Amino acid sequence: MAVPTIAVVGRPNVGKSTLFNRLAGKPLAIVDDRPGVTRDRREARGRLGDIPLRIIDTAGFDDADATRLGTDMRAQTDAALREADVCLFVIDAREGITALDQAFGDVIRRSGKPVILIANKAEGRAGVDGITESYALGFGEPVAISASHGEGMGDLHARLTQELGDFDRLDDDREDEPPLRIAVIGRPNAGKSTLINALIGEDRLITGPEAGVTRDAIAVDWLWDGQRVRLHDTAGLRKKGKVNDRLERMSAADTLRAIKFAEVVLLLVDAEHPFEKQDLTLADLVLREGRALVMVLAKWDLVPNRQAALKELQYEFERLLPQAKGAPLVPVSALKNKGLEDIMPAVTRLHRDWSAKIKTRDLNDWLQEMVSRHPPPAVQGKRIKPRYLSQTKSRPPTFVLMCSRAADLPESYKRYLINGIREAFDMPGVPIRLIVKGGK
Ligand code: GDP
Ligand code: GDP
Repeated sequence: MAVPTIAVVGRPNVGKSTLFNRLAGKPLAIVDDRPGVTRDRREARGRLGDIPLRIIDTAGFDDADATRLGTDMRAQTDAALREADVCLFVIDAREGITALDQAFGDVIRRSGKPVILIANKAEGRAGVDGITESYALGFGEPVAISASHGEGMGDLHARLTQELGDFDRLDDDREDEPPLRIAVIGRPNAGKSTLINALIGEDRLITGPEAGVTRDAIAVDWLWDGQRVRLHDTAGLRKKGKVNDRLERMSAADTLRAIKFAEVVLLLVDAEHPFEKQDLTLADLVLREGRALVMVLAKWDLVPNRQAALKELQYEFERLLPQAKGAPLVPVSALKNKGLEDIMPAVTRLHRDWSAKIKTRDLNDWLQEMVSRHPPPAVQGKRIKPRYLSQTKSRPPTFVLMCSRAADLPESYKRYLINGIREAFDMPGVPIRLIVKGGK
């Protein structure tokens, strides 16, 4: 398992959301407590020490005075349990065990999932009686924590390590890694400000002005789905005002600046009018600048027959932009808060491939095969001989081909090699540069 999934379950008011927020890291953009936001949003990436986590919350039911396990609660809990590798069953140590806790205990037991019993609100010496009582639930020794004060997280870490099988631990120096730089571009009205607002939320989540690459290009840092990101702040994002005033209309110069700033560019297209000339021009510009391109199909709620539409759009995209073959297409509705959680996984996957370094030996084994399968055409009776291929840099991956009669190597052959590299070394959607040099 790469990233373990945990479900946070239990009756209302025991502190599930508080625990969720703590594990998700900072007050996350996507864990917002404005009405209608948290309610739909029950999943986030986070970490506990070196354990990466996908966390599913079940705080969607809004009935703090509920005394019985209603159908809604039941359905949500079951759904969360189904996806979980480990269940965190939260009780309120100060209140002790209630009938509703018992009812939840039964549901959880029936799921057959590994369970860690969490006795919350146990800061200081509080909740000792509740902790003792909780053994009666039959899940063994509880982990006493305080979600709001952050106590007991070391014990929780130890228990999670026990319960989880294999997973990829996070590097501890990750905090020092520079954040991933992202820009959001698109033609006017594509839905950029609505998306950014849905992601970042209100001003409280903006951690303060950070000096950007230039005087007028400023960045906003935040934690997005467990990943530190620096978002190019297209002029005005931080200004107070109505949602629609936030992001000033981007000029061509702004757009270029945003692209140059970014490692990964989110290009928003209006899914109702996708891939218009300007969209294609922008996509091409992103790739020519060597940036990783994620296509976001905005306003997806307005599209009928979504499944068929997505297939059609994928096909259209590859036809219109063969140079972007394999770039991810992510349908979202910022207005309905749907699909936003799919953006970051696409971004990190692409960013990883965009940063890849390929061994020279592997490249040359591959080159030999490609050339013997399909040699370059002869020019005036003389063969062009590709001799040696190496990667000179990444971000974007840049290769140098040493070749006799370099000037005569046709563009189509370069494309053959570029597409081949992308396919053989599994870097779909990554812009690749190939420089051809003469020499023996
Ligand atoms: P949920 O309904 O289970 O998601 O519970 P919430 O996370 O919304 O918390 C319910 C209440 O308990 C809130 O008022 C929290 O501030 C409070 N709470 C959560 N965790 C703790 C804790 O560790 N200690 C104390 N004293 N209060 C907590
Ligand atoms: P920008 O110019 O690219 O920043 O676009 P805006 O974010 O200002 O959005 C342009 C228009 O599209 C506004 O009227 C938004 O309300 C609308 N819009 C944005 N996102 C969505 C969405 O997900 N669904 C729908 N139906 N409309 C949206």
